[in-house]
Amino acid sequence: MTDEKAQTQEFKLDSDCELRFEVETKNEKVTLELKSGLAEVFGTELVKGKKYEFIAGAKVAVFTWQGCTVELVGKTDVSYVAKETPMGLYLNCHAAMERLRETAEKDDTRGPITMVVGPCDVGKSTLCRLLLNYAVRMGQVCSDRLQANKKARVSGIVINTCGWVKGDGYKLLTHAAQAFEVDAILILDQERLYNELVRDMPDFVKVVFLPKSGGVVERSQAQRTEARDQGVREYFYGSRTPLYPHSFEVKWSEARLYKIGAPVLPASCMPLGMKAEDNLTKLVAVTPGPNLLHHLLSVSFADSPEDDVVQTNVAGFVCVTNVDVERQAFTVLSPQPRPLPNTVLLLSDIQFMDSH
Ligand code: ADP
Repeated sequence: MTDEKAQTQEFKLDSDCELRFEVETKNEKVTLELKSGLAEVFGTELVKGKKYEFIAGAKVAVFTWQGCTVELVGKTDVSYVAKETPMGLYLNCHAAMERLRETAEKDDTRGPITMVVGPCDVGKSTLCRLLLNYAVRMGQVCSDRLQANKKARVSGIVINTCGWVKGDGYKLLTHAAQAFEVDAILILDQERLYNELVRDMPDFVKVVFLPKSGGVVERSQAQRTEARDQGVREYFYGSRTPLYPHSFEVKWSEARLYKIGAPVLPASCMPLGMKAEDNLTKLVAVTPGPNLLHHLLSVSFADSPEDDVVQTNVAGFVCVTNVDVERQAFTVLSPQPRPLPNTVLLLSDIQFMDSH
């Protein structure tokens, strides 16, 4: 076989099968084309004859309920067909949510709020994508604004979560479940987490265990860090549609800088009537200085530190790209032009090095 030929692969998939492939080589491009039958990628139906491009980092599953033929052109690092997938179970979840949406529409109530949880690399984001794509494919396209609002209400919410499921991570999950008033929690892969949630959730919350797909690819710590960095980069610079962030100086005297959370003191040192946990949500003034460099700051909607800052939404984020001690000023990368709104800025632990 010539090299050229070796790079074209055709796959005939039986019903309920999945072609999995990965592109790892830098600058490599792989195109996927559906030749016949019906197939979908994470819930998005493929259009026959259309060429879909995938670049390095792509880990893809082409699933078919009915059977199909697909072609891959380009160098894949992994490509194989799997017969065993949990797609039937995932579809059942969608069907159950769809029934709740129908009831909500009929009774004019709220649609299902579903949270997807599980450890790292079990396909949480993929399942969310699948459930959302299936929901959209059921046809939720409305032009009438009022109608759209109603549709939005009855269609419900799918909430993705992070893979930190132990200790404080677990506390965050249960807090999110409460805050969003979830109706259902789908747990991928981990029975321990499933049992804990069955124990801790009120009876009206449906807690469902689902197996993870054998196709889910594990990411190394370095890949995870890179993906997070990429998320921040996209926030400022966009991805397909480029964004052009602004860069300007903020005088220390103009910044009202705080962070959330003071060190937890032993109970014996706490002022009377205060719990140690109160310190975790306490607003603490921060003195600007070199310690700000590369940190993300959130721009709170709170006008003053006397407001309930912890419970107030943030308008967005800026990143400190330079600190000039002599001039008592720092430079920020910001999605919006100067000046920063005269609000409370919150220092976060997240750091981002702007390499543009
Ligand atoms: P989590 O959100 O739990 O960390 P993801 O949903 O992001 O996991 O999945 C991790 C990676 O595995 C992603 O790159 C995703 O595209 C890939 N993946 C998920 N399911 C499959 C599958 N069935 N076949 C191939 N790759 C998959």
